[in-house]
Amino acid sequence: MLSLAIVVPCFNEEAVLPSTMEQLLAVLEQIQSDDNEISGKLYFVDDGSRDRTWELVSTAAARDKRICGVRLSRNHGHQRALLAGLLSVDADIVISIDADLQDDLDVIGRMVAAYREGNDVVYGVRSERDSDSFAKRVSAVAYYRLLKLMGIEVVHNHADFRLLSRRALNTLREYREVNLFLRGVIPTIGFPSTQIQYRRKTRDAGRSKYTMRRMLSLAVHGVTSFSALPLRMIALLGIVVSFGTLLLSGWVLWTRLTNDAAVPGWASSVLPIYLLGGIQLLGIGVVGEYVGKIYLETKRRPRFIIQATVGEGIRYDRRHADRYSHS
Ligand code: UDP
Ligand code: MG
Repeated sequence: MLSLAIVVPCFNEEAVLPSTMEQLLAVLEQIQSDDNEISGKLYFVDDGSRDRTWELVSTAAARDKRICGVRLSRNHGHQRALLAGLLSVDADIVISIDADLQDDLDVIGRMVAAYREGNDVVYGVRSERDSDSFAKRVSAVAYYRLLKLMGIEVVHNHADFRLLSRRALNTLREYREVNLFLRGVIPTIGFPSTQIQYRRKTRDAGRSKYTMRRMLSLAVHGVTSFSALPLRMIALLGIVVSFGTLLLSGWVLWTRLTNDAAVPGWASSVLPIYLLGGIQLLGIGVVGEYVGKIYLETKRRPRFIIQATVGEGIRYDRRHADRYSHS
């Protein structure tokens, strides 16, 4: 018997949740009728919602054994809510999907088929982004370029709709960093993997929970948790500027010695102050970003805190619980 778990992070999703549950249960039934070797469950992670999300999850879990719920103590953000779900699951196949069902549900069956063919990781990839706003599309393209430039491997147009095998998930458990950028980490796990293309729809109901600020923060984390290139670039800039200044000083000295008219000017003394001031601030900012990361990592704070769970089949991992349940 193969166990399948679908993990759904939810933050204030009361508007879509009832229909999401219904549709996902239908998907499970479809998969089970195609292949009676598979038994499926749904795991909803309530990321500290302030609406009726948890109420909906817990009543559904009381009614239906296939539904489980994990409630975080407050809003931890999409990535950590997802991680909490993934690490609470005990299943051979785990698929993560957003609560708003913008992702094509038919892909789930194809993902399971790809798993059957021997893949440990199956990425859901959007073939086009016509459902996203113009600004979101442009920033996404620019961001993927930047990541590539920095040597960070991510799957293009893949969000967090993916399948993980038990083996891949157990490897993910070994990644202990607090600032976890799942989209960057999963490709580094390795194992056989494949991609499935689909069209992304618009949200059924409710509003996007990803504000501009959240997206920017995810973007910065994506770079600084994977690459030290910005630090190296600062160092390089420092070398170039210092060398240039050295040449300039030589030239100033030479004019002073050979030409009486050479009066040290305003520009040559004030502009470098601004320039160097700017470069230093930039440098400090970049270094600060990394120092901040070290600071947070050394504190070994829990990445998420679970307040309550409902349903059977929630994995309780002592080793991880030690780390996650208190600071
Ligand atoms: N989400 C979450 N915690 C948050 C923000 C979002 O668990 O702090 C969930 C949300 O409920 C949804 C998924 O993450 O299931 C993706 O969010 P959303 O659909 O708002 O993002 P978008 O599709 O607009 O990028
Ligand atoms: Mg969405």
